Amino acid sequence: MIYVPSRMGQLNRRALLRQLQKLGVASRADLAKSLGMSQPTAGKIVDELLALDVLEEVAVPFAEAGERNGNGASIQLGRPGRRLRLNESRAKFLAIQLGVKTTTVAGLTLGIADEDRWPVSFDVESTNPAPAKAWENKLRAAAKSFGGGDFLGVLLSVPGVVDETANRILFSPNIHWTETADFAAIVRRVWDVPVLLVQEERALALGHHLANPDCEDFLLVDFGEGVGGAIIVEGKPLANPLPICGELGHTPVLGNRRQCGCGAVGCMETLISRRGLLESFSAADPAGGNSWSELFEYISRHGIKLWLAQALDAAAAAIAGALNVVGLPRVVITGSLTELPPAVMQYLSRAVQNGAMWARFGRVECLSAPRRRTAGLVAVGIDRLVVPDGGGNHRIAQKFSSQTPAACRKIHKHTIHKHIHT
Ligand SMILES: [Zn+2]
Repeated sequence: MIYVPSRMGQLNRRALLRQLQKLGVASRADLAKSLGMSQPTAGKIVDELLALDVLEEVAVPFAEAGERNGNGASIQLGRPGRRLRLNESRAKFLAIQLGVKTTTVAGLTLGIADEDRWPVSFDVESTNPAPAKAWENKLRAAAKSFGGGDFLGVLLSVPGVVDETANRILFSPNIHWTETADFAAIVRRVWDVPVLLVQEERALALGHHLANPDCEDFLLVDFGEGVGGAIIVEGKPLANPLPICGELGHTPVLGNRRQCGCGAVGCMETLISRRGLLESFSAADPAGGNSWSELFEYISRHGIKLWLAQALDAAAAAIAGALNVVGLPRVVITGSLTELPPAVMQYLSRAVQNGAMWARFGRVECLSAPRRRTAGLVAVGIDRLVVPDGGGNHRIAQKFSSQTPAACRKIHKHTIHKHIHT
C-alpha cells in the first residue's frame, strides 16, 4: 500500500497523540523513541500540534521534586526540561450529554479527566409540544456559560441506536422525539463548529479504555435510565455491519409483562433501569418508599430480595450470553447498579460467572467502574476532528475535514510554560 505523504503524516500524528494519551507527559525524544520515529519527524508533528494548541509544553525538572536517592536525601534538581502533554489548560471541545429529561453540558480540555463533571444542565420534558425547539432554546441559554470559546467541535453523547457516520439518531426507545431532530444542525446554530453525535455507551467504553489502556477486550454495560452496552476488542470498538450494538437492555425476559419504550413487552431494562427497580421496590414493599436513597437503605438492611435477585439474574443472563457469543472474558459495569450497596454487584458478578462458559475452566471478570464519558468523547473528538482518518468508514471526518483546519487555524504563538511543583 502506498501512502500519500499527508495520509502518512496523519497516521503519525494520530500515533503520537495516542502515545501521549497513554504516557500523560513526555519529552520529544521519549515520543520519537517509543514510536520508532526519527526525532525530526516527531519534532515536526509536535510543532504543528503546538501551533494548533492541541499540545502544550510544561517545564519539569529532570529529577521530579520529592524524588530521593538511596540514602533518603533529596536529589539535586537539574535544569528544567520541556515536556509535552495534551492541552489541559483550556477547553477545546464542548461536550453535551443528552438524557431522557436532563441535558448536561461541559467544556473539555484534551487531557483525561479523573471524573466526569457536567457543570451546566437543563431539562426538557418529552411531553413538551415542541421538544426540539425547547431544547435548542435552552442550549442557547446554556451557551452563555461558555463564552465565545473557540472550540474545535461539539461532541454530543446520545442514547439509542445512532448512525454516527450520518450524525443521526435512528431509534431511541426512551426519547422518541430525538429520532426526528437534526441535532447537528441545531447545535451548529448555537456554535458554528463541527458537531459529532456519539452513541453514549460507545463513549463510556472508549473512556474506560483510555483511562485503563491495559484493559483492551471487554463488554461495558451501563445501567441508568436504560441499559445498554458497547464492546471493545483489541482496544477498538467492535466493528459491526449495522449501527446497532450492545442493546442488551432489550433482551426479552420470560414472564415479564412490562411494556418497554422500544415497543416490545418484557425487555430486561424494564426490570433493572432506575425506574424499573423503583417500580418493583415500591410494589414489593409499599411501606419501604420509592426513592433511590430509600432503595439503597432497604438493600443495606434486607439484602437481595427475590424481586431484585430476579432482575439481576435477567441482566446477568443477557451479559453472560453476550460474553459467550462474542468471546470476551471481562464485563465492566458502570452506572446506577454500582451506586447501590456492594451486595448488588457481588450478586450480579456471581450470576454472570454462572452463565459465562469461559468461567467453567477459565476466569471471567465482572468489574464496576466509574463513568468516563467525557474521556471517551475527547478520544472521539481527537480521532475524528483533530486527526481525521481519510478512510471510507469515516464519512463525517471527511465531511468535516475541510472545516477542521479553519476551526484550528488560530495559531497561538505563545506556548505555555508551566512549572509543576509537587
Ligand atoms: Zn425494549
